[in-house]
Amino acid sequence: MGLLDGKKGLIMGVANDHSIAWGIAQALHAEGAELGFTFVGDALERRVRPLATSLGAQLIEPCDVQDDAAIDTLMGRVREVYGSLDILIHGIAFANKDELNGAYLNTTREGFRLAMEVSAYSLTAVVKAAQDLLNPGASIVTLTYHGSQQVAQNYNVMGVAKAALEASVRYLANDLGPRNIRVNAISAGPIRTLAASGIAGFRSLHKQFAGVAPLRRNITIEDVGKAALWLCSDWASGVTSETIYVDAGFHNIGVSLLD
Ligand code: NAD
Repeated sequence: MGLLDGKKGLIMGVANDHSIAWGIAQALHAEGAELGFTFVGDALERRVRPLATSLGAQLIEPCDVQDDAAIDTLMGRVREVYGSLDILIHGIAFANKDELNGAYLNTTREGFRLAMEVSAYSLTAVVKAAQDLLNPGASIVTLTYHGSQQVAQNYNVMGVAKAALEASVRYLANDLGPRNIRVNAISAGPIRTLAASGIAGFRSLHKQFAGVAPLRRNITIEDVGKAALWLCSDWASGVTSETIYVDAGFHNIGVSLLD
């Protein structure tokens, strides 16, 4: 008996086998969930398709979250293939590389709009389109980072977008709570992924993290996968509108002397 036997989930945000969404997909699949996947563009399709197929996915569809028609088409396919959804994983963010380097005050209007649209609004857009598919007891999980709460050098407009994303989680949780649908965010510590490689100085931040975090190590996609599994299972039946930290305790450290 798996914790998620009979549950159907949609995973948005796998780019490759380093993606946080992939760590989550593996954890959910191991407990019996049936999963569909989305990708953006031909280059990523070549990476995502074999991964999704290895977990027996019946649905592997393109979806650019900047395109409402693409989101609607995706949800139409989800209805055809699965009928309804119990799990929705949103592991999507994007900002231009130029915006993730130097002073926040140089953020451009277009860079701000793009980061907010892809990294914050997309959760609302996807949940809105999926609302009729979500079963009572369904769980929605998105990914955030502590740069939303405190300044993280070079994270800049993405920190502002993550603050909006975390606020969106609270509002969506309030909208969907009466239908017993839960919405939560996982705030992950730094992990070396495609998206993270766009942030100036990320390598050094990643390296220093393990010396400061209470667990004295970096976070893995397996760590995040296990927390997401909990949030998607009945063990988290009373948890909604939260930002759950999976960062080895780093965000609770004020001042630290490096070992
Ligand atoms: P990743 O590059 O593997 O995943 C990012 C995903 O966003 C990719 O699959 C990409 O295709 C998708 N995406 C970008 N623009 C899109 C669009 N217009 N439409 C649809 N999909 C689009 O990197 P990741 O680190 O696994 O990122 C997943 C989530 O985790 C992001 O929200 C990221 O901000 C968050 N996060 C990452 C870290 C970290 O250190 N890596 C830490 C905390 C939170």
